[in-house]
Amino acid sequence: MSVFDEYKKELLKPFSDEHSCFLYWKGRVGLYSILKAIGVGPGDEVIIPGFTCVVVPNAIIYLGAKPVYADIDLDSLNVSLDRIKALRTDKTKAVIVQNTFGLSSEPDKIAQWCKEQSLFSIEDCTHGYGSEYKNKPNGSYCDAAFFSTQWNKPFSTGIGGFVITADTKLKVVLATYELELLKPSWIKSISLQLQLFARRLFLNPRTYWTLLRLYRVLSKWNILTGSSSGGEIEGTKEPQDYWMAMAEVQARKGLQALKSLDQRIRLKRKNAESITRFLKGNQKWHVEEAFHADHGFLKYPILVKDRVKFLELAEQNRVELGDWFLSVLHPVRGELTEWNYEVGQCPNGEYVSKHIVNLPLEGKPETLTRFLKDNLAQVL
Ligand SMILES: *Cc1c(COP(=O)(O)O)cnc(C)c1O
Repeated sequence: MSVFDEYKKELLKPFSDEHSCFLYWKGRVGLYSILKAIGVGPGDEVIIPGFTCVVVPNAIIYLGAKPVYADIDLDSLNVSLDRIKALRTDKTKAVIVQNTFGLSSEPDKIAQWCKEQSLFSIEDCTHGYGSEYKNKPNGSYCDAAFFSTQWNKPFSTGIGGFVITADTKLKVVLATYELELLKPSWIKSISLQLQLFARRLFLNPRTYWTLLRLYRVLSKWNILTGSSSGGEIEGTKEPQDYWMAMAEVQARKGLQALKSLDQRIRLKRKNAESITRFLKGNQKWHVEEAFHADHGFLKYPILVKDRVKFLELAEQNRVELGDWFLSVLHPVRGELTEWNYEVGQCPNGEYVSKHIVNLPLEGKPETLTRFLKDNLAQVL
């Protein structure tokens, strides 16, 4: 069995026998492949959350279609069925729901409604591999789901992604694409391998901040195999070499990383529970207990008054805070009209992306609660 087949087999373990898996250089390439396979093109609309990563609308725009933004709810940080219904037109072709930090929207209800409406439903499950929603694996409610294994995702291969689907027609088309996708050059593979190696060697709590800054600068200049090339966050033109297959190094790394996934998910869920207790006890915004049941937690989102100041405080205290969702189309700031987003369309998404930071969940929760306690006035 090839390393790719072995990896697919492992990835499919939580899913039913009808599911198949397809591998890509990045998660976004998987999304693009799904959209292309179902015929999304000029004149079509795809409904997505107004609180996502810019690579999601990009994949739609590269195909000539239009992203339409549904606002999120403040408790789940996700879209609800009602908001999607309100945006449906006769041009709507597909709906993308998102797993956000491990929290699901209502993928069961939304997928069911899409079926009734003859719309294709897709789950952005880039935060959600390995956990469940109502006793079924994340990514199994919609017609197809795409996943990411970029640095900060549930398990990492540096960059990487895959699609899981049980849709008979889609499976056939994605299988033909496997033969058409560009193959990563050996330079790209080696560069990724070196970064994976360097990360294991050098990344520790003392070097974290310096290396993170260096990594961001270098990937912006396209020196490293970063998760987004400069152009991807500056505009809506499809980059060269975008539609690319997975490299062997990614599959090998993935097989290795999957071994500790369940243990890490359990630890993070446990730590998330103590943070929820702490925040709730202090009447701060928190992830409601209803969402704890079978959700995995990628990171713990919190809302703060002044994000810049809070990130500085965290750096001084060596707390590895994340700053995802700097805008409704992370990480693009400023003008978003090129992505068909007008200011004011998604007020909740805009509010949250102004105030959100995320806490790591793999350390000791006491370190985090102590830090939060010391800076409680900053927490919303
Ligand atoms: C990371 C991420 C993606 C894209 O994943 P890649 O593997 O980097 O292409 C898409 N959507 C969300 C919400 C993400 O966080």
